Amino acid sequence: MNIHEYQAKAVLKQFGAPVSRGVAILKAEDAEAAAKELGGPLWVVKSQIHAGGRGKGKFKEAAAGEKGGVRLARSIEDVKTNAKEMLGHTLVTIQTGPAGKQVNRLYIEEGADIDKEFYLSMLVDRETSRVAFVVSTEGGMDIEKVAHETPEKIHTFSVDPATGVMPHHARTVAKALGIGGDIAKQAGQLLNQLYAAFVAKDMSLLEINPLIVTTQGQLKCLDAKMAFDDNALYRHQDISALRDETEEDGKEIEAAKHDLNYVTLDGSIGCMVNGAGLAMATMDIIKLYGESPANFLDVGGSATKDKVTAAFKIITADPNVKGILVNIFGGIMKCDIIAEGVIAAVREVGLKVPLVVRLEGTNVDLGKKIISESKLNVIPADDLDDAAQKIVKAVKEAA
Ligand code: GDP
Ligand code: MG
Repeated sequence: MNIHEYQAKAVLKQFGAPVSRGVAILKAEDAEAAAKELGGPLWVVKSQIHAGGRGKGKFKEAAAGEKGGVRLARSIEDVKTNAKEMLGHTLVTIQTGPAGKQVNRLYIEEGADIDKEFYLSMLVDRETSRVAFVVSTEGGMDIEKVAHETPEKIHTFSVDPATGVMPHHARTVAKALGIGGDIAKQAGQLLNQLYAAFVAKDMSLLEINPLIVTTQGQLKCLDAKMAFDDNALYRHQDISALRDETEEDGKEIEAAKHDLNYVTLDGSIGCMVNGAGLAMATMDIIKLYGESPANFLDVGGSATKDKVTAAFKIITADPNVKGILVNIFGGIMKCDIIAEGVIAAVREVGLKVPLVVRLEGTNVDLGKKIISESKLNVIPADDLDDAAQKIVKAVKEAA
């Protein structure tokens, strides 16, 4: 789960990490009070969406003005104008995709005077099974680009969970960033705070880009992107409460309610499969025959008819789906249950695109019989290869 920048900064603050003072607002009318509370003379008005690259982003609507999604303001009037321009409008950044994201919240912050900008992030490194830090002098930049063009500017190290952050980690960071004296001391403290926050809250990612040194010589987290391990959310009520469903894919929220493993993708063939491995194989073979999957969906080994119906509805409701491939291997899962679920869903929501069904395993004959007796317009398939070829052909013919 991801949260907004202002929420992430509140979490950082709990652990003592230095962030600017700020006020989050939902309505343009609240901009004035927020600006007055912060005092000025410099403010930053920041769009809150679950995507980075906001500063260099562009709004779709002319009414939002020419500037990006992060704007400096030098008067209360300026804060108000920018708030009015940005709220309710659609911001397109390199991370949102061309559709962009509507800005429904703003964070108004006291502006910092920047002397230096650095990059710092933390993630779970699966290779070492440890929390790793990534630091670079190239702050405020697109870090993928830095990694590609100047990999020597990126420094990585991981932390032994038995010892936590050690003084030598702080020295590594100071050397990598070219800092010394009091600022290096602040960086050492910050490493400890960030590590404590990361572990305590079960984060999967924390990115501070940029981490700055102000002209007054203070280290500060100027931006914060935070993601959490979904499997650990049950023990963090405070974090779960920060969820903003408007930022998430509606289909994925619906799937989560039915305990389905579902991820939206950008292809044209909807897939309903049981087992993650078979789902991956199905997606691969669709690609092999020249189309792309519209989703990953594992209905699981113990799906009920209701669950199958819910899954089928989520797939058919997606306008990008031009054809559906049901590929089930009945082990624990029985083929007749799948057949009944598919039929129930089609009766309820109709079927406007070609549907290929491949069943194999427990109760396969009963499953096939149920489908053929339903008189639905289903294209039966014998094996995975046959199924993939048939759905790709049907989608291409319909286009
Ligand atoms: P992002 O574009 O989504 O990564 O949003 P950021 O929070 O990183 O802001 C984008 C850029 O705005 C930063 O890299 C800074 O250059 C600038 N910026 C943000 N906050 C301040 C501030 O308090 N003072 C100044 N001078 N610039 C800021
Ligand atoms: Mg940033």
